[in-house]
Amino acid sequence: MDLRNELEITKTVARMAASVCQTIQMELVDPAQKSGREPVTIADYASQAIIGNGLAQNFPDDGVLSEERSEEFMLLLSDEQRALVSRFVTDALGGYVFEEQVCAWLDFGKQKQARRTWIIDPIDGTKGFLGQRHYCVAISLLLENQPVLGVLASPGFFSDADDPPVDHGALTYATLGSGTYMEPLYGNGMPQPVQVSTETDPQKATFLTSFASGHTDISFFEGVEHNLKRTPDSPQRRLDSQDKYAMVASGLGDAYLRIVPEPAYREKVWDHAAGYVIVTEAGGRVTDVDGNPLNFATGTRMENNQGIVASNRFLHNTILEAIAKNRV
Ligand code: AMP
Ligand code: MG
Repeated sequence: MDLRNELEITKTVARMAASVCQTIQMELVDPAQKSGREPVTIADYASQAIIGNGLAQNFPDDGVLSEERSEEFMLLLSDEQRALVSRFVTDALGGYVFEEQVCAWLDFGKQKQARRTWIIDPIDGTKGFLGQRHYCVAISLLLENQPVLGVLASPGFFSDADDPPVDHGALTYATLGSGTYMEPLYGNGMPQPVQVSTETDPQKATFLTSFASGHTDISFFEGVEHNLKRTPDSPQRRLDSQDKYAMVASGLGDAYLRIVPEPAYREKVWDHAAGYVIVTEAGGRVTDVDGNPLNFATGTRMENNQGIVASNRFLHNTILEAIAKNRV
């Protein structure tokens, strides 16, 4: 399967979208509130419109599952906010972009049944974006419901090699069978192949989970840590977005645990599809908390799934056992 063209286009649009998010972040942004208490900003819409434009031009026959919709863009944003989105998209793409065009790109590929479906999270970690923490632009491609390409553009990605850590920004990407690579988000830095860690000791492993307490069951997470005899010294980081998957893929973290905070919540496909390819191609393992393969065939909501574990593979079974023990 040759996905080089798809990968190059995805990398380009993800970079453009991330750059617009950074520009908007430098100005003061008022979030609009989406139903279900999740915030949405003009940057989410500008980012998704830019990605929609790139995909519509290059892959007009493909389907799309994406987080934002033109209906909410029209409903939730003021005239001034919508004009700002048009202006930022215009600045990024050139040639005046009208509101109607933004709406068409936001909805590109929706409700289309196709062999190939793009999965877009225009800003994964909007709360992190608003809090000046981590966020990323996440794009993935499903071929017959299997993720085959993943790209994460992460403006806040750091290198632990720096002391103190410096934010560089990273583009992390993978296609099925070709491994995972990371390169600087901007500039001419060369891609570097990345691999998961070889850590086998659950007490020494760096565990990652959501920054937002409402996004994961923290007391369950702590119960799992207890079962693994982890101590307050065992390394742990809480951060927003699929940057957690990029950390596991590159060995900066060893395991990412996400346990649904309320039984009725279902994980969203755009929060995991890109990260899944990136971790598995780097040699890691990603399953649900029961050890089952992830099912990407159920549309937006990942049904029958009570949470997700992504690890360097060596720690995987130990973590699954600790989760099972915590459930009894
Ligand atoms: P993270 O930054 O890893 O916590 O994940 C951010 C994602 O969490 C967002 O893109 C949302 O799709 C998702 N999310 C929103 N509400 C919830 C919730 N109640 N439980 C789990 N995930 C959620
Ligand atoms: Mg998200």
